[in-house]
Amino acid sequence: MTTKTTTVLTEEPEVPETASSAPPKVGFVSLGCPKNLVDSEVMMGLLAQAGAELTSRAADADVIVVNTCSFIESAQQESVNTILEMARHKTTGQAKKLVVAGCLVERFRDEIQRNIPEVDAVVGTGELENILAAAGVARTGEARSPFNILSSRPEGEARVAQGRFSRENWDGAIADLPNYLYDDATPRILATPRHSAYIKIAEGCDHPCSFCIIPQLRGKFRSRRFESVIAEAERLVHSGVREITLIGQDTTCYGEDFDLKDGLALLLEKLAGIEDLRWIRFLYAYPNKITSRLLEAIAANEKICSYIDVPLQHASPTVLKRMKRGGGADIFLHSIEKMRRTIPNLTLRTSFIVGFPGETEKEFEELCAFVREAEFDWMGAFGYSDQEGAGAYSTDGKLSLREIERRRKHLMQIQRKISKARKKRLLGREFDLLLEGTSEESDLLLEGRTPMHAPEIDGKVFVNDVAEGVETKPGEFYRCQVTEAHDYDLVARIIAKA
Ligand code: SF4
Repeated sequence: MTTKTTTVLTEEPEVPETASSAPPKVGFVSLGCPKNLVDSEVMMGLLAQAGAELTSRAADADVIVVNTCSFIESAQQESVNTILEMARHKTTGQAKKLVVAGCLVERFRDEIQRNIPEVDAVVGTGELENILAAAGVARTGEARSPFNILSSRPEGEARVAQGRFSRENWDGAIADLPNYLYDDATPRILATPRHSAYIKIAEGCDHPCSFCIIPQLRGKFRSRRFESVIAEAERLVHSGVREITLIGQDTTCYGEDFDLKDGLALLLEKLAGIEDLRWIRFLYAYPNKITSRLLEAIAANEKICSYIDVPLQHASPTVLKRMKRGGGADIFLHSIEKMRRTIPNLTLRTSFIVGFPGETEKEFEELCAFVREAEFDWMGAFGYSDQEGAGAYSTDGKLSLREIERRRKHLMQIQRKISKARKKRLLGREFDLLLEGTSEESDLLLEGRTPMHAPEIDGKVFVNDVAEGVETKPGEFYRCQVTEAHDYDLVARIIAKA
């Protein structure tokens, strides 16, 4: 999982239905992962529908909302820094209200307002509809309850009994778990480029990973209804979206809470039938949930990108056991071989946590050897971060931050060489490219993505040459040929419209 700062809304939004005569101007800062971004988009949709005006400039906003991340300590710190930065607009600027939403509220609800008096209201991850009251915007029409919040998996109920979701020892948090999930009737305003959108197909997580507090922050796993996802995808495509990325804490459990077998495969296949939708992918697969049926669905459908993101977290069986995840290098290599055999040209992304408590040099070396052998296309490495409330918090054998960082860098060095070699193999090959627009690196370059590149997280494709007669427009698809390969990025030439 990545954390980053996003000032949402780079262009004026399309507002669904407006009502109020003197609407407040609301500005959003969304932190953290795409799952949090979708929550921001839902809150913006609710506000806009009720008549609020949205602005991309914090200095112009009457109400500023900071949607926070609390995944690891650095994310918590970034959230607090952003709240303090936005609080200045209230003390010295024109903002009249500051609202804090998201995961930090689930973790420190009472403490936020106690310690930062500029904060006027907090909105937890299960209370998105409360954004209206928090921002001082009158609701138009009846409040509606999403229809799909009551289902759960037997695993989720078992974990409840084991205390997995307990927040008892968290000062400042309330006991009630979030249980909200938006649906296709919920208004939503995209903060992504017009041609690309995330769809959250599930929320919460039932897994017991001992380094992670997401289950306590987000609640039990629950899926959106199949028809709701399809209806939202159809609406998005109708409004110009050409690429959809399915997200959730664990997308591969999709549908299990309402006894749908192979739910993700069925969903992908149905989405592939939507005319004008060009690319579909899913992120955040759980390793032992990648079934043959899912692989076959990817292999058989051109619109489903040959791309799997499976965070493996480690490769040493003993570390994975302590992480309460299971598996190990041999099992993973076997399943990677099956993925690559079933899906030609598969792009494989993973991420690891290094420096987990008690990780010995030998266990770390097992991870390094695995990375060398597996040859991932994309890989992220995160240093272990201690989380109060996570199972690993009270264990012995914590490594120093310096050692954790040394191991993280070492692993990334190994991957850099692998990535470089894999990118070199792409030289001269042709791919479809979704053009994003002018590059942030230079006005002289265009930038785009191929099916090998998920939005935001993977390397980039820079375009430095366009064949004569081809007009380029952001959001359109082109055929490109790779002309240069770097450690992570590619340079390509657009040769035709695709
Ligand atoms: S699968 Fe594990 S790491 Fe991922 S959200 Fe669930 S508990 Fe956390």
